[in-house]
Amino acid sequence: MSGNAILVVNAGSSSLKFALFRLDTAGVLNLAARGQIDGIGSQPQFKVKDDAGRALVERELEVTDVREVKDAIALAGLWLSTHFPGEALLAIGHRVVHGGADYAQPVLVDDAVFAALEKLAPLAPLHQPHNLAAIRALRETRPELPQVACFDTAFHRTHPQLADVYALPWEYYAAGVRRYGFHGLSYEYIASVLPQVAPAIAQGRVIVAHLGSGASLCALRAGRSVDSTMGFSPLDGIPMGTRPGALDPGVLLYLVGQRGMTAAALEKLLYKQSGLLGLSGVSNDMRLLQESTEPRAQLAVDYFVHYVAKEIGALAAVLGGLDALVFTAGIGENAPAIRARIVAACAWLGITLDSNANQRGDICISTTASAASAWVVPTNEELMIARHALTQVQGA
Ligand code: AMP
Repeated sequence: MSGNAILVVNAGSSSLKFALFRLDTAGVLNLAARGQIDGIGSQPQFKVKDDAGRALVERELEVTDVREVKDAIALAGLWLSTHFPGEALLAIGHRVVHGGADYAQPVLVDDAVFAALEKLAPLAPLHQPHNLAAIRALRETRPELPQVACFDTAFHRTHPQLADVYALPWEYYAAGVRRYGFHGLSYEYIASVLPQVAPAIAQGRVIVAHLGSGASLCALRAGRSVDSTMGFSPLDGIPMGTRPGALDPGVLLYLVGQRGMTAAALEKLLYKQSGLLGLSGVSNDMRLLQESTEPRAQLAVDYFVHYVAKEIGALAAVLGGLDALVFTAGIGENAPAIRARIVAACAWLGITLDSNANQRGDICISTTASAASAWVVPTNEELMIARHALTQVQGA
């Protein structure tokens, strides 16, 4: 094994996010730089920050230079090799949204794996093709490097059958209509750090609230996922920035059958126009909604809090009680007022907030007398991917 760095790649439809981790002599991965190229094909922008969050580069790019993901990869690769000439890559870890029913672990990508992942694209048409385009491009340009696919669904493969099926005829389950669950790399990271940051709860009944622009909840028992609010797609569960969360399927039947809505229009409505944005008519950003005086902005915040608390109750029922609630991601890590309201709505579960700790953003935000505790633990999906990539090459 030669080399001392892992590159993490997260490719979307119009953006490429990447992070470079250095392996130190103690075998620990440390962030060296994190960057992204947004607006691929329209108004590309290139930004990179160092490990302390200081800007290393921030500039506009010519659209002709970055027409598609593989152009962005070439550009980012060139920049990284120029600015970090001492780092030799050991492997590249890719975020891949869908691992289907079979991939419960990250996997080294060879031709057979790539073909299997391509077959899963219809299950996640908005993300999987872009994730795979990055793998394809890097397999071509860096064929000597191991490419490791890390899945958002994999962590949830420990779900019992009850949390894996829908009450539909079995032929649909066989055809792949299952509750896969998402945000798995975030939950896996949280589960991996709980033994250090909160050892008393790590083996207990924990609900993790990943509240970002995408949002979901995961029920952990002894660090393993037993249920989650997202299912077949990342649309289900709690409301999100632009996605509605759980929706009566009758609404979809009405929109298609009576209003003649096409699949493409429905997709746009459900992924881009709903959630906090749709309900408020103001923004998908929780910061702006909290500041807004528009009644519908307040309604959107109330709706978010209400449904997050309601689903926490549902997952607590699945777990047969609750030992701890963990907040993470953009809203979970940075919005004390939202955390306070959610915890207040969960008072019946025995959680008592320590308001000062919550305002400060301490790791533990519940009082010592609280029967169930509450925590803020920053997530780090990129580090999780880097660790997986390293494990794959060390085991190879
Ligand atoms: P993420 O997807 O985890 O990056 O989360 C992004 C979202 O977090 C943004 O769209 C905001 O709504 C939310 N967010 C970030 N910082 C704050 C904050 N200080 N207060 C409220 N919401 C925040």
